[in-house]
Amino acid sequence: MTRAGIVSVVGKPNAGKSTFLNRVVGEKLSIVSPKPQSTRDRIVGIHTRGDVQLVLLDTPGLLVPKYALQESMRRTALATLADADAILYLVDATEGPPAPLADVAHLDRPPRAPVVVALNKVDLLSSPRRTELVERLPTAYAISAATGSGVDQLLEHLGTMVPPSPFLYPDDEISTQPVRFFAAELVRETALEQLEDEVPYSVACEIEEYREAQSPVYIRAVLHVERESQKRILIGAGGQRIRDIGRSARQKIEALVGDRVYLDLTVKVLANWRRNVHALHRFGYHIPEDHSS
Ligand code: GDP
Ligand code: MG
Repeated sequence: MTRAGIVSVVGKPNAGKSTFLNRVVGEKLSIVSPKPQSTRDRIVGIHTRGDVQLVLLDTPGLLVPKYALQESMRRTALATLADADAILYLVDATEGPPAPLADVAHLDRPPRAPVVVALNKVDLLSSPRRTELVERLPTAYAISAATGSGVDQLLEHLGTMVPPSPFLYPDDEISTQPVRFFAAELVRETALEQLEDEVPYSVACEIEEYREAQSPVYIRAVLHVERESQKRILIGAGGQRIRDIGRSARQKIEALVGDRVYLDLTVKVLANWRRNVHALHRFGYHIPEDHSS
């Protein structure tokens, strides 16, 4: 008899959710960035081992909405919680004992699904601090998403929390998101890596054309920013920065699709897109109904 179910991976920005998901799935799926709030949409990773299949949902940071984009992120995160058979609450162990999930997420009542706490980044703790934390939180799992330490034990425990069920996806599938989506994420991740603060959260990537029947695969992508000044920063002197971003993003996409890629990358200004509900829809962010009319 097989078991299968949905595990929502939640936590504050920078806790290591994307790193964890990438490790578990074994392929680079979810964007990883040293800057907070870089994951804007739900990403599904699928982990199948033996008779157990875990469908993992990465979530954007659970934030108090300040403007439309953050509201979209929060709505996605809450929807992810509601779908789950188990909730993995990932915390940065270097910040000390975590606040309860319901407090951090501003939930009116505790989530329906059981919560497992994982203390991540324990590779950064001295062993006395690590021991102290584990003694204070005996039911938590001490892990390092970066090194993989403790991750197998955690996955085994999560496997006992999902119900008896046929597999939800074929067992060789790692993700239900189209490659095209990941191509956009990789372009955006690459732009984030090469930019100073301020600009990154104003960058959205849209794939305008994706022709995979040919080799090299042809991809036309646009980086949208909010202001002319940001466009100038992104393009760089003599176009050097956008060429660097394009080259590096192309190599990442080639690794993902296993083929040569021609990446045609341009930058456009779409004024204040983060406050523009139509633009948010276009870039795939989920907006509550009552805000989209
Ligand atoms: P997210 O915002 O929760 O998705 O966090 P990310 O996965 O993007 O990670 C945020 C930062 O923490 C990145 O710089 C990661 O490399 C780093 N990080 C994540 N997990 C670990 C870990 O277990 N150990 C260490 N040392 N760094 C980690
Ligand atoms: Mg992330």
